[in-house]
Amino acid sequence: MNKGIKKTGTPSWEELKASPGLPDEDRLEKGPVAFIECVQEIPCNPCEEACPFNAIEVGTPITNLPKLNGEKCTGCGLCIAACPGLAIFRVHKNYTDSTSLVEFPFEYYPLPEEGETVNCVNREGKFITKGRVVRVRNPERFDSTPLITVEIPKEFYLEVRSMERKRCKGC
Ligand code: SF4
Ligand code: SF4
Repeated sequence: MNKGIKKTGTPSWEELKASPGLPDEDRLEKGPVAFIECVQEIPCNPCEEACPFNAIEVGTPITNLPKLNGEKCTGCGLCIAACPGLAIFRVHKNYTDSTSLVEFPFEYYPLPEEGETVNCVNREGKFITKGRVVRVRNPERFDSTPLITVEIPKEFYLEVRSMERKRCKGC
């Protein structure tokens, strides 16, 4: 099999579905929620510490995969910047009748501006759709991991996980 985190560096959909970090379909319908796309049993737990609502559990041993409690998750997105693996996202499936929001960590400069149209990509960096930047969050407490939220056609909410890098002036 040529798919999966060990072959490609990005998790396959099968690996994600089998992990405890994704919300169930009912929770997705209700509003913004975290998508913890962490499928490797590594010694790591800053996500658990970062959640003010105790919605993420790693527990003991520390190599447990993080488990999302979708009912406790408020969709605040504070866990996203805390993840050194850039493996957490925030998805608001029903932002409008036809669009969704996806928030992702983005550590490349220059950052996009709110209102800008950007090229949105999937987990492998492949172009999926155009998206509109609706929020850029980069407070000091995020420790140089800015968060970008894009509005995209609803059909792509499970696919879009980042955006193409912007060219800087002179590149
Ligand atoms: S989005 Fe907010 S409430 Fe949900 S798991 Fe992350 S930090 Fe916790
Ligand atoms: S902080 Fe990120 S990499 Fe570490 S366990 Fe949590 S989701 Fe996985």
